[in-house]
Amino acid sequence: MSKKEITVSNILSTRDSKSILDNITEFITLCDSDFKILESNNSADVILGSGNSLIGSHCYEKYRGKTQPCEDCPLPETMSTGSIISLETYDERFGEYFEERAYPIVSDTEELEGFVLVGKNISKSREHEEKSAQEKKLAALGQISSGVAHDFNNVLTGILGRARLMKKLTTDPEFLKNLQIIESAALDGAATVRRMQDFTRLRTDKEFEPIDLKKLIEEVIALTRPKWRDSAIVSGILIESIVRLADNLNVLGDPPDLRRAFMNILFNAVDAMPDGGVLTITAQARDGKITIKFKDTGIGMTEETIERIFDPFFSTKGVQGTGLGMSEVFGVIKRHLGQITVDSQVGKGTVITILLLQTDITAVEISKPPEVIKVTPSKILVIDDEEYILDIVGEVLTDLGHEVTTCSSAEDGINQFKKDNFDVVITDLGMPNISGWEVAARIKEVNASTPIILLTGWALNLDPEKIKENKVDFVLQKPFTEEELERVISKVEK
Ligand code: ADP
Ligand code: MG
Repeated sequence: MSKKEITVSNILSTRDSKSILDNITEFITLCDSDFKILESNNSADVILGSGNSLIGSHCYEKYRGKTQPCEDCPLPETMSTGSIISLETYDERFGEYFEERAYPIVSDTEELEGFVLVGKNISKSREHEEKSAQEKKLAALGQISSGVAHDFNNVLTGILGRARLMKKLTTDPEFLKNLQIIESAALDGAATVRRMQDFTRLRTDKEFEPIDLKKLIEEVIALTRPKWRDSAIVSGILIESIVRLADNLNVLGDPPDLRRAFMNILFNAVDAMPDGGVLTITAQARDGKITIKFKDTGIGMTEETIERIFDPFFSTKGVQGTGLGMSEVFGVIKRHLGQITVDSQVGKGTVITILLLQTDITAVEISKPPEVIKVTPSKILVIDDEEYILDIVGEVLTDLGHEVTTCSSAEDGINQFKKDNFDVVITDLGMPNISGWEVAARIKEVNASTPIILLTGWALNLDPEKIKENKVDFVLQKPFTEEELERVISKVEK
């Protein structure tokens, strides 16, 4: 049997145009010039007419629930400009967004005989657009903040190191006190920079481990409770908490990161309830996904605040806010391949919902033996193009009893290494001409067993594979403390 040829005339001979229009999901109506509906397709009848034919009613009644032609009717503009105008509207009856277009039908004498009105639900695509706009904005912000963080890390490394060295040079209590202040201010700065980097850090520098979320959330509540208590005692307000956590909430993750993320959310909830209220924390698992909800009955947020909540440094709390809490949360959840959504209403409260992937691997208590740091004096080559970093690393290492050679360019460093024997090489990552990676490769060519430590002010999103591939033994984040430097050297020395 030969297959019947499909042609337009074949289709049209067996079906009328109405039945063709009935197959289209957009709602289509044919109206006369007085806005009266002459024909409607099935979608229009089902959605706008609750299943009844729209013929005989007016478009403004059915499309918008109005009693007279709409003020923003796209028809006149389409008529005067000659181009089809698309109008976006929000329909309260359905709680959805629609797009409407009017296609005029004109006579030979250019008179309007009627028009075809096409409407479609665009809520989904709008959501998608908003989401990708949000993602683009966050990516741009991430780029800016990671650059700023990098520069600050270099500066703080210098300040921190100098303050530490100067503390050893003096016994004057007044000097010591001031140096202590400089040191803690620099450490505070470093903590802020780390939080900022957390927003962009995609890879974790640590392996994920199985975590019992129920236990972790309970810990976080216990840790943060003093803050609600304090505010309660000081101002006589009461924050009541309702906690419902299911069992078997295992995820693979980084416990300190998740702890900090949940703490940020809890602190925000408490901040949002200056007159007291109810904080509800629930967590449950279904279909391999864990849903955690933090609900408060606080002041809520405007649309604008919701839109900017994850932006680093966005805060409505004036000097009391850093604006880094939710951006940090965003980074942590993203790194855990989870999702986070914000629902909020001004005056009513906020719900923060987090989705994480459940795992079958159960958390086990692992007790690690305490780390013993023992450094044997070594010959160390330090390469960094920033003189002040070079000086400070050099002096700290000398102070620890090592024999140090410093080079302010990668070429000099490599030549120096060829001339002399070194136990360890420390190199900056970002240098002009030759990068830290290349320095590592060239050093290993000369002596494959020399340990190499890479210093970086960039976020910790270096690929562990790449680190291994590039023959780097350890990556140390700037700014680092004397103890961290010492620990790393003792590790690579083995
Ligand atoms: P900070 O708390 O330092 O202001 P965050 O990044 O933690 O910074 O939060 C950013 C902003 O988001 C807050 O300033 C506040 O306006 C808003 N916000 C976050 N959580 C809530 C909440 N639970 N209720 C109301 N507003 C909130
Ligand atoms: Mg906060």
